[in-house]
Amino acid sequence: MGSIGSKLQEVKRRIAAACAMAGRVANIRTQAADFGAADGVTLLAVSKTFGDAAVREAHAAGQRAFGENHVQEALAKIAALSDLRPGIEWHLIGPLQSNKTKAVAEAFDWVHSVDRLKIAERLAEQRPAWLPPLQLCLQVNISAEASKSGVQPRDAAALAHAVAALPPERVRLRGLMAIPEPAADFDAQRLPHRQLRELLAALQREGLALDTLSMGMSADLEAAIAEGATIVRVGTALFGGRPAQAAA
Ligand SMILES: *Cc1c(COP(=O)(O)O)cnc(C)c1O
Repeated sequence: MGSIGSKLQEVKRRIAAACAMAGRVANIRTQAADFGAADGVTLLAVSKTFGDAAVREAHAAGQRAFGENHVQEALAKIAALSDLRPGIEWHLIGPLQSNKTKAVAEAFDWVHSVDRLKIAERLAEQRPAWLPPLQLCLQVNISAEASKSGVQPRDAAALAHAVAALPPERVRLRGLMAIPEPAADFDAQRLPHRQLRELLAALQREGLALDTLSMGMSADLEAAIAEGATIVRVGTALFGGRPAQAAA
């Protein structure tokens, strides 16, 4: 199977090859960049369902940004790995309910899954003043599946303007995130990623300073990079398969 360190190298090779194919600078980051510095691709290691030891191993191999999608599971992991701060970066990529916003505002660096204003408002109120602003992405339901979370594309602009107007010292809107339906071939994979890129471009034309496209996973990171992904969220290709019931 290979160690996490060798899988990290393999995923970085895939990212570099995809950047070369797309004519993009192969600047692979292990931490998300500050605003305006996001010219490359950040590799977000999705450690959900994997324990502290797996995160430590990836961290020892140089990885710094980790994605989690269950708040409860993540909080335990973040606490257990507090000795890796500062430097380690925690990204929430899963659903966020109102009653969990305070804990998230206190523990995370990024939230990719904002899909309604109330959640962003609570995060802004509850982000401790001594921490840097929480970095936010709006999750867009780009494949328009009724069953999935995310704001509908037609409602994204209104939500983006409202979130961007929240206090910038507490929350900073950085861009968009999507989890497209799985597709087998490259062109089919590119389509939803292109739609997300076009949506970001439309928001930029409306005057919003955004620089982040969080899209692409183990199976489709090449297609996402071809369409401009700045953060790819990779789990399986780094840590191996997850138990089916915990895979969502
Ligand atoms: C689990 C998950 C990923 C990683 O998926 P892999 O196919 O294992 O790479 C990425 N994004 C989100 C939102 C996830 O929940």
